[in-house]
Amino acid sequence: MAVLETILERLHDIRAIDTHEHLWDESYRLEHPGDWTLLFYHYGITALQMAGMSAAETDELYADATPHARKWEIFSRYYPAARNTGYLRAARIAIRDLYGIEEVTSDSMEELTVRIREAVQPGFHHWVLTERAGIDCAWVNCFDRDANEDRYPVRDWGDTALLRPALYANDLIHPSGYGLISGATGLDTATLGDWLGAIDAYFARYAPQCAAVKISLAYSRPLAFDPAVPRARAEALYAQHRAESLDNAAARPLEDYLFYHVLRRAADHGLPIQLHTGLYSGANRLNAYALRDNVKDVAELAIAHPECTFIMLHIAYPFQDELVMAARQVSNLYAEMSWAWVVDPVAAAQFTAQMLVAAPMNKLLGFGGDYAWVENTYGHLQIARQGMARALAGLVTDCGWSLEEACEAGWYALRGSAEALAGGR
Ligand SMILES: [Zn+2]
Repeated sequence: MAVLETILERLHDIRAIDTHEHLWDESYRLEHPGDWTLLFYHYGITALQMAGMSAAETDELYADATPHARKWEIFSRYYPAARNTGYLRAARIAIRDLYGIEEVTSDSMEELTVRIREAVQPGFHHWVLTERAGIDCAWVNCFDRDANEDRYPVRDWGDTALLRPALYANDLIHPSGYGLISGATGLDTATLGDWLGAIDAYFARYAPQCAAVKISLAYSRPLAFDPAVPRARAEALYAQHRAESLDNAAARPLEDYLFYHVLRRAADHGLPIQLHTGLYSGANRLNAYALRDNVKDVAELAIAHPECTFIMLHIAYPFQDELVMAARQVSNLYAEMSWAWVVDPVAAAQFTAQMLVAAPMNKLLGFGGDYAWVENTYGHLQIARQGMARALAGLVTDCGWSLEEACEAGWYALRGSAEALAGGR
């Protein structure tokens, strides 16, 4: 058998640990089974908008009340030009493999809806993730919010063996959701001292079930955090923020102060810190100037804090070459590939090869779906395994690696590196 096919087969046998997802709990999906457009929603929406779909068409395409013929009219305007992208390929692969439909057409869309509704029954997540995708555990940063629209740092949903929470710390660092945190800890949040105590109590309660801490503040500020903000300055800003809800720029010293508090708690509880780095999600959001310093900022943070473990999500795309340099130079900094295999599968495969010749194998966390719906995660993992196999086959044919060495690197990327880093050690 050719090297590529052999490696791909071996990668399919590796039970994966998926290091970044936004998956809803199965109970939520059972209430929202969706129609044929569902798998073209998360990231698919961006691909279709990049191809020209307007905001009004977007709303109509995904509204429950829109007749399917009208949905098809909108979808078919943009799909032919956008179906080449990783975003839509992940959906197409899932629809083919899980629902037995080769291509979505005006004839097959109704049948796809029927098959989705038939499949979404109790046990659906286990079937897609465990049986079909070969995922043993996914680290999940949930989108769910409480009745006050505050986002849960950890959603206590139950199935933490399969969907293991990442503690989402944005709203601890830029304080919000005071009622949610008070409810979870039984503590007041009136002063900065109260808030620090509530963060400690929140970690004490939830960290043992978590895999990591997740922070996506790169969407709103640089990842350089001032380590020397005086306590009195943070206290005054907390009081002001509590009263009038400051924006990120105005609250920055407070964020800096609280960020280092969260770092200390992550270290105490043995949780690695996952930082969003690189491109922003959504069409027409670029901000390339802001994200170009992500690698430098996180690498300096990691060197200053050897007691913490830092995971840079999404290969810091499009600055993945810099990430190769940082992950090979800094012992407590790791490169993570969620989202990357659907953003730019060619760059992701190239990055994998570069990492594996430049850095130790345990520095590469090779897959995270970064999706809300499990079918998309399945499709994404197929693209990842194919790209990883291409990268590894190249190391065998061009760089003198043995087949066994290549397969061992695949095991680290899909499982071993994550297993070694997960919290609760
Ligand atoms: Zn994400």
